[in-house]
Amino acid sequence: MRLIFLGPPGAGKGTQAARIVAKHGIPQLSTGDMLRAAVAAGTPVGQKAKAVMDAGGLVSDEIVIGIVADRIEEADAKKGFILDGFPRTLAQAEALDRMLESKGLKLDAVLELRVDQTKLVDRIVRRAEEARAAGQPVRKDDDPEVFKTRLEAYNRDTAVVGPYYEKRGQLTAIDGMKPIDDVSQAITEALSVAAQG
Ligand code: AMP
Repeated sequence: MRLIFLGPPGAGKGTQAARIVAKHGIPQLSTGDMLRAAVAAGTPVGQKAKAVMDAGGLVSDEIVIGIVADRIEEADAKKGFILDGFPRTLAQAEALDRMLESKGLKLDAVLELRVDQTKLVDRIVRRAEEARAAGQPVRKDDDPEVFKTRLEAYNRDTAVVGPYYEKRGQLTAIDGMKPIDDVSQAITEALSVAAQG
């Protein structure tokens, strides 16, 4: 199964993708996680990406497309994957099409978590508090001001990606404001419809 999770930062993509990993045994390919790992390891990609990520901007298409192209070649991605946080621009969506086409692969579903953006800052503040209480590191870009910049980047560059898939009849919208278990249930239903189609 090959899936894409779309939705603004803080919509719950990571949480829901992790549940699908547990259920279907396919890896979650989060470009945010991959970039954070590159920053932590101090790789050339990490060095280029760090300042942009800290400021809440988007890392260049070239870098992100490169890391996804490498990642989907790895053995665990052969049976499928969930893309979380990618594609984030039209150029990335088009590059992904080319990557899949060259391998003769198809997407099974594109799920878009739709949320009320006015509630997202509260969610992100809570996410930071929960991480802190659990003794986990708090993401630098979960600061409310940086978060606003991330949301602006989403509305400017990423909001067009949903309609790109919608035009092809591949998009399923999911109400991401419901409780986490209800969202998971809606996703399970959407995936069973996609599996039949
Ligand atoms: P995320 O964990 O998905 O919220 O991503 C954290 C940060 O990583 C984003 O704010 C961007 O700076 C960068 N990033 C992650 N995925 C992408 C992408 N597909 N394109 C550009 N930048 C990305």
